[in-house]
Amino acid sequence: MAPDRKHVVLPRLGRLRLHESARKLARRVEAGTARIMSATVRRDGGRWHVAFTVQIDRTDRRPAQPGSVVGVDVGITHLAVLSTGECVPNPRHLHRAQRVLRRLGRGLSRTAGPDRRTGARPSKRWHRAQARLARAHARVANLRRDGLHKLTTRLAREHGTIVVEDLNVSGMLANRRLARHIADAGFAELRRQLTYKTGWNGGRLIVADRWYPSSKTCSGCGTVKAKLALAERTYTCATCGLVLDRDLNAARNLAALAGEAVDARSGRESLNGRGADRKTPLAGQVAVKRQPGTAPAGQTVPPQGRTTNHMLTRAH
Ligand SMILES: [Zn+2]
Repeated sequence: MAPDRKHVVLPRLGRLRLHESARKLARRVEAGTARIMSATVRRDGGRWHVAFTVQIDRTDRRPAQPGSVVGVDVGITHLAVLSTGECVPNPRHLHRAQRVLRRLGRGLSRTAGPDRRTGARPSKRWHRAQARLARAHARVANLRRDGLHKLTTRLAREHGTIVVEDLNVSGMLANRRLARHIADAGFAELRRQLTYKTGWNGGRLIVADRWYPSSKTCSGCGTVKAKLALAERTYTCATCGLVLDRDLNAARNLAALAGEAVDARSGRESLNGRGADRKTPLAGQVAVKRQPGTAPAGQTVPPQGRTTNHMLTRAH
């Protein structure tokens, strides 16, 4: 790291100018609370990145409200819906970036790409269009990741327990492939960030069982619907008459899981103080390996060998 904090000196590559200032890392290194172990250089979306693996001494933190529980339902129209009723919007400019993405995708399909049958090599125009599309993809991913970072930092600092779903099965988006792809990526990223940030802040992350019907369950009375169409944005309960936004209903169900997870654990297992990413030991079934996406959202596909011990289905 150069003293001006705008360059790094790497073995064999020499002195490289950084686009962003490394002052936060430099400060820690100078204070002796961080030690750089290694550096990795990679190229992604038309840019070069250098990533440092750093050993850091962190002070122990506690969430601002250690007793509070929040359920998080990740979406595509919104970044997330929280069980508190808060609707976290998508980052600014994301919508426009996605529109650009679609336009560039169409542009790419109109150029002469590689053809495996004829052995045709791609044209220069194709290569340029390809690079433009890759940059646009990277921008969408960056915008979303930035929004997720802000959200997960806030959640981990504030709440003692955070509950998310195992997979993006709540079916909150139409099955258009682009939307699906972006939401899935954001979903995995949310979990990854929450896993380490709850660890840093002394909180706890609960990952709901993947067969838990968070969207189809009524958060008011616990009735589980047999079917819930993807297009239904509002949850209407036929049993108790609850009418609620679909995602908020799912988020509330997730939050309610935290209490049941503690009940199920009582007596058997002590709570690991900083235990992040603890799977809910709820439904007693064996997780059957199934690729995400093979079970269409909004349709019940029970795993093989599933029996009656589904503890999440409350009596109704
Ligand atoms: Zn109900």
